Amino acid sequence: MSGKLQPGLADLLAYLGEMGYGDLYLDSPAEGARPAGQAVSGKQTAAADGETVERAAELAALAATVAGCTRCRLCEGRNRVVFGAGNPDADLMFIGEGPGAEEDRQGLPFVGAAGELLTRIIQAIEMTREEVYIANVVKCRPPGNRDPQPDEVAACRGYLERQIALVRPKAIVALGRVAAQTLLGNDAPIGRMRGQWFRVQGVPTMVTYHPAALLRNSALKRPTWEDMQQVRDLLRSGAPASS
Ligand code: URA
Ligand code: SF4
Repeated sequence: MSGKLQPGLADLLAYLGEMGYGDLYLDSPAEGARPAGQAVSGKQTAAADGETVERAAELAALAATVAGCTRCRLCEGRNRVVFGAGNPDADLMFIGEGPGAEEDRQGLPFVGAAGELLTRIIQAIEMTREEVYIANVVKCRPPGNRDPQPDEVAACRGYLERQIALVRPKAIVALGRVAAQTLLGNDAPIGRMRGQWFRVQGVPTMVTYHPAALLRNSALKRPTWEDMQQVRDLLRSGAPASS
């Protein structure tokens, strides 16, 4: 970044970097700023316009608010709030259930064993963690990794809705039953939801298995791969194959 930035803007960009939002290019990225051959969408190669910076700033402001949240009992046992991380202008958003032990320690989503597998799932569709956005239904770790309870999900839900509205992804992947049921407002079994397109806040949403489930049962890897192929196809074509 050049030294010509206004001080306020420089602070904001530094803050966004700390939040895991990575680089926001105010000018076109320098040649070689990206690994050779890495495909990027027009959304990311375009110079960040004022509107994109504004949405990123609103996300950062929301993150700062949520960092002190006491709207539900999960605030009592947490070490860190895990707001979300990634590209605030992402084409693809992943939504998990809630932080585990490692996420609670680091304040970042999907950084434990399931997170390593999620990284590989993202790479399997020729994307990177840096170019997607990753969030969870609840931002604080449920004790002993139990499912978040309905009142906790309800208390936290507005934050996730705002994240979706601000990132405005072209597609969402709901990881596992809790994320899918929360986003779709149903109580259907995961096996019936996965592999299908839904709409959440107008955004095409694919349900698939949670990476932690894949670690327990490797037979779920193939259907997950098939679901991710549908996501890749949608992002390439711009329209869902069905629905
Ligand atoms: N599982 C989740 O659902 N979310 C995380 O952030 C980590 C593990
Ligand atoms: Fe607030 Fe959500 Fe954490 Fe509950 S889980 S305290 S609603 S941030």
